[in-house]
Amino acid sequence: MATPQTAEFLSFRRTFTLLILLVVLPSAGLSGFGVVAIINERAAVEKRLTATWSGRLTTVWADVKARLDTLEVVSESPLQVTSSEITLIESTFDVDDGGVIAQDGALEPVVKILLPQFSVVPQKPVVFSASTPQGVFLLIARRTNGAVHGGFVSQAALERLVREVGAPLLAGGEPAQLALLPVKPVPAEGVLARLASGVTEAREAALAPPELASLALPSPFQDYRLVAQAVGEDPVGKASARNRTVYGVLLGIFYVTLALGVLFTGRTLYREAQLSRLKTDFVSLVSHELRTPLTSIRMFIEMLATGKVKDQAEMQTVLDLLVKETTRLSTMIETVLDFSRIESGKKQYELQPVPVGEVVTAAVEAFRAQRVGASMTLTVDVAPDLPIVVLDRHAIAGAVLNLLQNAFKYSGDDKRITLRALRDGPDVVIEVQDNGIGIPRREQRRIFDRFYRVDSLLSRHTEGSGLGLSIAQRIIEAHEGRISVESAPGLGSTFRIHLKAAQ
Ligand code: ADP
Repeated sequence: MATPQTAEFLSFRRTFTLLILLVVLPSAGLSGFGVVAIINERAAVEKRLTATWSGRLTTVWADVKARLDTLEVVSESPLQVTSSEITLIESTFDVDDGGVIAQDGALEPVVKILLPQFSVVPQKPVVFSASTPQGVFLLIARRTNGAVHGGFVSQAALERLVREVGAPLLAGGEPAQLALLPVKPVPAEGVLARLASGVTEAREAALAPPELASLALPSPFQDYRLVAQAVGEDPVGKASARNRTVYGVLLGIFYVTLALGVLFTGRTLYREAQLSRLKTDFVSLVSHELRTPLTSIRMFIEMLATGKVKDQAEMQTVLDLLVKETTRLSTMIETVLDFSRIESGKKQYELQPVPVGEVVTAAVEAFRAQRVGASMTLTVDVAPDLPIVVLDRHAIAGAVLNLLQNAFKYSGDDKRITLRALRDGPDVVIEVQDNGIGIPRREQRRIFDRFYRVDSLLSRHTEGSGLGLSIAQRIIEAHEGRISVESAPGLGSTFRIHLKAAQ
C-alpha cells in the first residue's frame, strides 16, 4: 500500500513519541535508582551487619567484665585465678616487704617498676594494665597478709574466656568468631607516614578474616579491642551478591516488560492508525465507486426522460445498461452491509445439509451471469462423489463467487480460470485457480485483512473494496473451515476453501 504519510500516521508518531517521553523515560530514570541501590548494596549490608554485631559485642563484654569482677581464687601464693574454669594467669610474682620474686626472671624488672602501684591493691583480685618500657602488660593481683600476690594475664586465656561467654550469642546469625586484638596504632603525622600506615592496614585487612564489628574496650583493657570476625565465606559479600542478583533479575524483568509493553502498544497504535487510514480510504473508495454507477444511471434516465432515445433497439440497450449499473450498485451496497453485519456479529447463518456440488454450481451460474460475453476460459471440475456439508448455501456460494470474481479481475487478457471441488480426507476442498498477476509472498497473509488491497498497477485500475476476502474468510471460519492461498507473482494464484464434510 502507499507510504503511510497521512494524518493518522502523523498522529501515531505523535502518540508514540509521547508514550516514550511520558512513560519510558521516567520509568528508565526510576530504574536508575535501582542501579544505584545495587551499587550501594554492599555498603548497606556492611552497615546492617556492623550495627547488629556491635550490639552483640557490647553484651558479650558486659558479661566478661562481670566475670572478671568475680574471679575465683584457686591458689593464694603463687596466685592463680579462674573464671568459668579457665586459668587466667600464665606467669606469677610475689611482692613481700619490697622484695620481688617473679616466676619468669625476665619479668622481674617489670614488677619492680610497678612496685609503687601495688600499695593500693585490695584483697579482692583486681585486673589492671601497666605500661612499662618493656611494653604494656595486663596483670591480676591481690593483697593477703601484707604481701601482694599476682601474675601476668595470658591473652590467650582471656580470649578463651571471651569466646566462652560469647558462644551462645554466636549460635544464630552469620558464622563468626570473637577475638581480642591489639588496638590499631594511631597513624603518625605526615602524608608519607599516613600513606604507609594506610597500606599496612589495607594489607592486614586483606590477609585477616573480614571484621564484622569491633568494640574499643574500656580501661584497663584499653590496649585491646573485641572483634567479631567472619568465618568462612564473607557474609557481606554473600548477602550483597544475593541481593544484587535479586535486584538484577527484577530490573531485567522490569526492562523486558517495559520493552514488550512499548513494542506491543506501538504495534497496536500502528495498527489502529493503519486501520483508520484504510477506513478513510474505504469511505472515499466506496463514495467514488457509488458515484460512477449513479452518474451513469442518472445519465440514462435523463436520456429516457428527455426522449433522446428514439428506436426500440436503442431503448433496449439503455435499459440493459441501467440494469447492469443498478446491479453493480446493489452488489456494492450488499457487500458493505454484509461486512457490517459480520463485523457487528449480527450475521445469521442458515445452516443445512447441502450437496457441495449445488453450491459450486450456484456460484458458477452467478459468475457467468455477471460476465456474459467476457472473454475467458472457465473450467469447472466437480468430483461426483462429494459428500454433504452442513452450510449456509448463500454465504458459501457468495465466498466462492468472490474468489471467481477476483480470479477474473486480477488476470490479464488471456484469462484461464479453473474451479475444482474435490474430496480431501474428511474435508471437501473448493479450489479456484487462475493464471493472473499472482500475489507476492509477504502480502499473502494480509490480503485477508479488511480493506487491504495489494498495490499493483492492475488492482489500482480494478474496482474493489478490499473487503471480499475478509468477508469470505469470516464466512468460512464461521463454518469451522479455513481458506488459504498459494500464489507466485506472474504465475497466478490458487485459493482453497476447506470445509468439513457432515458425519
Ligand atoms: P478487492 O478485490 O475488492 O480489492 P479482496 O478482499 O477480494 O478485495 O482482495 C484483496 C486483495 O487481494 C485485492 O485487492 C488483490 O490485490 C488481491 N487479490 C485477491 N485475489 C487475487 C487473485 N486471484 N490474484 C491476484 N491478487 C488477488
